Amino acid sequence: MPDPVQAPVYHEVLAANDAYAAGFDKGDLALPPARRFAILTCMDARLDPAKYAGLGEGDAHVIRNAGGRASDDAIRSLVISHKLLGTNAWFVIHHTNCGMELFTDEVIGDLLADNLETAELRDGAWVNPAHGGGSPAGRSIDWLTIPDRLGSVAADVRRIRAHPLVPGHIPIFGFVYDIATGRLNEVEAASEAGRPRTVPIG
Ligand code: ZN
Repeated sequence: MPDPVQAPVYHEVLAANDAYAAGFDKGDLALPPARRFAILTCMDARLDPAKYAGLGEGDAHVIRNAGGRASDDAIRSLVISHKLLGTNAWFVIHHTNCGMELFTDEVIGDLLADNLETAELRDGAWVNPAHGGGSPAGRSIDWLTIPDRLGSVAADVRRIRAHPLVPGHIPIFGFVYDIATGRLNEVEAASEAGRPRTVPIG
């Protein structure tokens, strides 16, 4: 085990969990989400899907990654969510001021090739804190950055809609969460692309 001294948050997490477990009364929830829907959204720390969408334990699947993008792995989770666990409506929710709008594949590839430690954004440009010890491995990754916020929501909904393992009857809605107001704003072109194409079979 890593030395917890190197991560003071270790103790904070365990203390918070002690308090949570002490009052825990959700031990008999069913595995399939009770409200039968899933949300794909960004990992941004300012977003709390349980709060912005009114979720309790056991209600819905929440799939998170950088940007809330419809990556192969996000689609893997959505397919399992429907096929084995019965969700039948999906939301793709990106947000304003997403960090994925602040770099390109070339920028992060160059930063990582130089040095692996946390970079700083200075006057609109990313700068490494030190040099050396980097890896070129980042140059061969599609980082799924977001050059166009509304376009990215629509593109992700279209990608999910077109996937051969996604039934045409599942409605897919596209939204942008506004971090300044807490409001979900629907992206009409995305939800339009996510309209059901078929009726359920059987
Ligand atoms: Zn984000």
